[in-house]
Amino acid sequence: MSSSTLPEPPGPPGEFELIAALKRLIDDVPAAPDVAIGIGDDAAAIEFESGVQVMTTDTMVDGVHFLRGKAEWADVGWKSAVSNLSDIAAMGAVPLHALVTIGVPSNVTVIEMEKLYSGMIDAFSQFGGSIVGGDVVSSPVFFVTVALTGRAREIDNMPIILQRDAANPGDLIGVTGSLGGSAGGLRSILEGIEGADADMLKRIHYRPVPRVHEAEALVEGGVTCAMDVSDGLMADFEKICTASDVGAVINASDVPVPTELKTLFGDDAVQMALTGGEDYELVFTAPFDLMDRLLARHRGTVTHIGTVVDVPDEGEHVIALDSAGNTIELEHRGWDHLESK
Ligand SMILES: [Mg+2]
Repeated sequence: MSSSTLPEPPGPPGEFELIAALKRLIDDVPAAPDVAIGIGDDAAAIEFESGVQVMTTDTMVDGVHFLRGKAEWADVGWKSAVSNLSDIAAMGAVPLHALVTIGVPSNVTVIEMEKLYSGMIDAFSQFGGSIVGGDVVSSPVFFVTVALTGRAREIDNMPIILQRDAANPGDLIGVTGSLGGSAGGLRSILEGIEGADADMLKRIHYRPVPRVHEAEALVEGGVTCAMDVSDGLMADFEKICTASDVGAVINASDVPVPTELKTLFGDDAVQMALTGGEDYELVFTAPFDLMDRLLARHRGTVTHIGTVVDVPDEGEHVIALDSAGNTIELEHRGWDHLESK
């Protein structure tokens, strides 16, 4: 314990604090009239005469998002494409064009970068989008930045964009696929857990699937509010609550988790599903009738996990209840990428 009476020096900013400060600076400049959605959603949206385009970018850094020597280069490439594809899916859009920038230390080989790009190209081939350019720079630490555009889907010639600010009290909350698998894979890797169940979870961690096709079903079904789960369900749904000025109740026992996660980690599976990041599933809201139709049409793909409520007078926007109706205490709520780990 420190005996100093001096105030603690200010720590590094959190990710969300930094984004808020930079957003204030950018918002001081009048936005171009064609900007339909600026900072604050999964992607920005720009209006063109031919329709609406969305654009997003995401970076992976060695030592922060993966460890060189532990991860396969092709998997790093796959995931760098998928994190962007997932944000385009979260807007309900169709992936179009990617720019890829790599920062390359002197000890990285051409063959390794070819593997990185082959992983990216695999993901774009399966889910849409193609690499049209980029930049290569020298860097003391390896990083890859992907910027990806997409075309908003249209219904009756009207662009439909899934946004975070469209949730209403009384809506039901749905999620695609299952949650916690990526966290289980990471824990299996870190704890050296072997076997078929661990391999399945590691696969989810290294090769997540962006929900581009499911996004199409949500848009066509009439959903208007969604985002992707990249930082953890509780932390991410908080962003929908803030943007929509609502609260939310998640029924933890309804949150779908991979059976392998339950087998390996028992009761921890629930916490991992609520707070583990990098699942790249879509979480969305819909009025009762719409959710009913989606569940009937896409059972197995879509699960009802909670309800949108009014903003609570105090406490967290998002709470998770166990099957007895008690609030679940969470060790943490999700990932802040600038937090020291
Ligand atoms: Mg996102």
